[in-house]
Amino acid sequence: MTLTAERLKVDLLVAGAGMAGLCAAAAAAEAGARVGVVEKLPEVGGSAVLSAGMLWTARDFTELQQRMPDADAALGRALTSDFSAAVEWVRATGTEMFGPIDGPYFGFGRGWQIDVGGLFSRCVRILEGRGGWIVRDTAVKRLLRDEAGRIRGVATQGPDGSLEVDATAVLLATGGFQGDPALVAAFIGPHADRMLVRSNPGSVGDGFRMARDAGASASRSLSGFYGHLMPSPIDDFGERHFLPLTQYHSIYLVLVDRNGRRFIDESRGDEYANQALLALPGQRAVLLADDAMRQRYVVTAPYPRGEVVDRFAEAARAGARYAVRPDLESLIAAVAEWGVPAADLRRTLDGHARAARGEEVSVDAPMPRQAATLASPPFHALEVQPAITFTLGGIRTDDQGQALDHDGRPVAGLYAAGADAGGVYHVGYGGGLALGLVFGRRAAHAALALRQSPVGLR
Ligand SMILES: Cc1cc2nc3c(=O)[nH]c(=O)nc-3n(C[C@H](O)[C@H](O)[C@H](O)COP(=O)(O)OP(=O)(O)OC[C@H]3O[C@@H](n4cnc5c(N)ncnc54)[C@H](O)[C@@H]3O)c2cc1C
Repeated sequence: MTLTAERLKVDLLVAGAGMAGLCAAAAAAEAGARVGVVEKLPEVGGSAVLSAGMLWTARDFTELQQRMPDADAALGRALTSDFSAAVEWVRATGTEMFGPIDGPYFGFGRGWQIDVGGLFSRCVRILEGRGGWIVRDTAVKRLLRDEAGRIRGVATQGPDGSLEVDATAVLLATGGFQGDPALVAAFIGPHADRMLVRSNPGSVGDGFRMARDAGASASRSLSGFYGHLMPSPIDDFGERHFLPLTQYHSIYLVLVDRNGRRFIDESRGDEYANQALLALPGQRAVLLADDAMRQRYVVTAPYPRGEVVDRFAEAARAGARYAVRPDLESLIAAVAEWGVPAADLRRTLDGHARAARGEEVSVDAPMPRQAATLASPPFHALEVQPAITFTLGGIRTDDQGQALDHDGRPVAGLYAAGADAGGVYHVGYGGGLALGLVFGRRAAHAALALRQSPVGLR
């Protein structure tokens, strides 16, 4: 579909057709609004259609706060209080769902596995069935403002050139800034621009930059990001690698840095190890396992209905440094060829084994509460590197998705949701699809209230 003159006026213009954008668009259309969606890529879905489809978050605000005490409390309350109703809305669309699935797979929380592609087909049907529209292969390039500074629409760029769309409200749902080397280096830190990007290719900070240009401020938690350890190196890294190469199981294994030293309590979570690794020299680590660990965690499904693949073998096939040896001493020698000093690695593994047995020894990083030692041969080592899936910081919003300026006042007519809206999580992770679903719908409803009262300041 291309944009034509009669489509150029809407109540809500949504930039980005991923989790937040499509859920918002469908919710707004259901509520009677004229809605237009502009998607930069040729297909809708964003990172959400590449995902494992686990729609989950903390059970309640108390659990979320225990996990992330420094995260924004108002946003956390909104997420956890709306989640169940939002899940029911997904169910009511007729989307296939499996669950509920409990804590162990996420570390905490509760969720459902959903057919994301099925949900999006239904969202598009709801949108188009109520007179809304969606254009693909077209990017929102600029926010338009009236003399008072209020958002009045967007300028787009597509195959047929540039167009302006009038909108009472604009929702930015462009999926975060993980794909932009300048923004990640500025906010996440040095070396972040060299990380693998495990995300759809369209999320390069367009929403963040446009909001900033329109007077919105940045959220807190800007240096945080969600992602997973991936093998190193990987030849020609691409979407086909995203799920089968993810080293979810690092939480059960032993992880050492380039100096052969542990740097984190592995059981905290792969997403924590991933962020910690970015700050270390060389940004490379080695994941160590014995065969019992491999059998139990590496070759099994990481979550219900997850892909059953040997994630070490897949890594080796993709070009990663991987070694299997009959005894620990020869594994240490193999890893030494990757630049990890043998004596230091030997000392680390010895200390780890003694600490795991309950001996009082000094270790470099806290031990997992239930640490397993490398005991059953053969022994495995895989070099890993950090990867980013989405940014935890972004546009500052209130709990309705309303973008806020540096003084905490609304940027009239501007909303953000999903990974574009930052600060819901701090360092930790409590589900990405849930953010898009809950805050996309919240922003849509808030924007409609604005349609009834054009001043829009609640
Ligand atoms: C491999 C993988 C597995 C994952 N597994 C899970 C999981 O199981 N559970 C979970 O909760 N989360 C998971 N996630 C994370 C989840 O997919 C994201 O957090 C979620 O999709 C973010 O939603 P969003 O709407 O903010 O962005 P997205 O869904 O990424 O959508 C953003 C869209 O905006 C478009 N866009 C960008 N710029 C513009 C512009 N200027 N104009 C118009 N369009 C634009 C992009 O092209 C994209 O289509 C996974 C992600 C990946 C990559």
